[in-house]
Amino acid sequence: MKKARYGYVKLAAVSMAVLASSAFAAGCLQNSPREPRPAVEPAVAPIAEQAPVPAESTPPPEKTIQDWVKTYGELPLADAHNHGSVLGITHNLALWKTAGADRVVLFGEVSKPISVVHDEYTWTSYLDHPDLIVPFFSGINLKDPHDLQTARERLEKGYFGIGEIAAASSYSPAVSDAEWKADHPMDGILPELYALCAEYEAPLLLHIDPPMGFPIDELERALETYPDTRFIFAHANAYNSPENVERLLEAHPNLYADLFAGFTAFNPDSANKLEDFADVIRRFPDRFMVSTDSGYDLAEGEEQAIEAMYKLLDLLKDDPELVRKAAYDNLDALIRDQPATRTQKKRISEWDRKTGNRHDTASMTKLEAGRILAEADDSIE
Ligand SMILES: [Zn+2]
Repeated sequence: MKKARYGYVKLAAVSMAVLASSAFAAGCLQNSPREPRPAVEPAVAPIAEQAPVPAESTPPPEKTIQDWVKTYGELPLADAHNHGSVLGITHNLALWKTAGADRVVLFGEVSKPISVVHDEYTWTSYLDHPDLIVPFFSGINLKDPHDLQTARERLEKGYFGIGEIAAASSYSPAVSDAEWKADHPMDGILPELYALCAEYEAPLLLHIDPPMGFPIDELERALETYPDTRFIFAHANAYNSPENVERLLEAHPNLYADLFAGFTAFNPDSANKLEDFADVIRRFPDRFMVSTDSGYDLAEGEEQAIEAMYKLLDLLKDDPELVRKAAYDNLDALIRDQPATRTQKKRISEWDRKTGNRHDTASMTKLEAGRILAEADDSIE
C-alpha cells in the first residue's frame, strides 16, 4: 500500500466542496428528443386473446459479476471511459478488483472549469496506480486559444489522451450546459488539438450529441483533415444505430468506437441489442473498446455497466482473439506505443542524477517513463 498524499487529500476536499454546491451527473449521455409517451397506457388485449405464459419462460437468474469473472477472470479487461475522478477512485478500487478490471481510462467531468481539479486528481490516482490508471484530461476550454498550451503541458507531463471532451452537445443533461464545450467538432481550438494529438500519438475521446446531422458532418471533416489523429467516438452506441457506427468506421480508418455496453443492454432508451453491435465489432475487430461510462443512468451503476461489458464479450466468444481485442488490446494499442516526452525524459535524468541510476530514455515509451516517475514521486515524499 502506498502512503496517502497531502495533495490527494487536499484535492479530494476541494473536489467534494465544489460538488456539494453543484449537481453532478457521473456520465454524460444525452437524452435525445423522443416521441412523447402516450397519455394513457396502450389498451390491453382481451384475456381470451392472450397466450398462456408457460412456466419455463421464466428467465434464468442473471449472472453475477463473480460468475462472469469465473469465466473471464484470465482475460485482461480495460474500461475505456470512466469518470471516476469526480468523486475519487477509492470506492471504485474494490469494484475494479472484484470485477477483474485491469486498466481504466480515467478523467472527471466533461469540459467544465471543475474538470481542471479532476485532472489533477486523475494524475494523483495515476501516480498511486500506474499500471491500472490511464490518465486522460478534460479541463481545457475548447474556445480559448490559451488552453492549447495547457493541453501540450499535460501531454508532456504524461497524460495519455484528451477526453472526455464535449465536441458537440445539444441534449445531454450532463454535458449540454458545459461552459467549455465546443459547438461542433471543428469549432474553437479543436482543430489545433487534433494536430497536437497527432504529434503526441495521443487519442481524443469525443462526446458528440446528437450523433447525427451537422455534428457528425463536422466530425467527418475532422477525421479527413487530420488523418494521423486517432479519434475515439465516446459511447458511440448510445442513441445511435449500429448502421451509423458501421458507416463511420467504414469511411474513416482513424476513427475508433468506445462501446458503453451498459446503455444498450440495460437502458430502456436503447433501441438496439448488444447482438446488433457485436456484428459491427466483427466487421471492425481493431476499432472497438468496451467502456462503462461510470454506469451513467443505470440503476445499478458501474457494476451493471461492467456486467454488460462481459455480456457483450460473451457474444463474441467464438472468436477469442476478437474478445481480447475488444476487452483490452485495442485500447492498449492506442496507449502502449506513445513515446516518452521531452519533459518526462528530463525528469528521469534529474532523478537518475540524484539516485545514481541510469535509465536509457532514447526509445522509452510514455508508459515506461510514467512508471519510473511514479516510483520517483513515491520516493520523494
Ligand atoms: Zn462519459
